[in-house]
Amino acid sequence: MPYAYDDQNIFAKILRGEIPNKTVLETEHSLAFYDIEPQTPVHVLVIPKGPYVCYDHFAQAATDAEILDFTRASGEVCRLTGVQPGEGGEGFRAITNAGEHGVQEVPHYHLHILGGRALGRMLA
Ligand code: 5GP
Repeated sequence: MPYAYDDQNIFAKILRGEIPNKTVLETEHSLAFYDIEPQTPVHVLVIPKGPYVCYDHFAQAATDAEILDFTRASGEVCRLTGVQPGEGGEGFRAITNAGEHGVQEVPHYHLHILGGRALGRMLA
């Protein structure tokens, strides 16, 4: 199924510099910034710079370089924010929401990195 990307979504505006953000990390193909309504003491969103709607769109359409950059950037964010186990942190949860059932609000693929407190056992 082809995905239609809406370039008026809020993260597209952040990428164009039309809306400010608190950046954690910027790489060639990715941007990580603090969520405006943090659910946990550490709540960072990692997004690709390319126009991808959701996880599947990114996985299917992004280049290998974009996927590698995004994966490495996400790991780096965990280290930079102090939640990476083995690097002094106590752990984190990484999740992505997709579509209506996933309650995805912003139609630009993003990974939530949540940590800074015990999160409990919750998958849904
Ligand atoms: P979703 O429900 O799409 O997985 O998550 C979207 C996330 O984007 C939410 O956690 C929401 O707080 C965050 N968000 C929405 N608008 C903005 C914004 O303008 N700036 C930042 N930094 N985060 C935003």
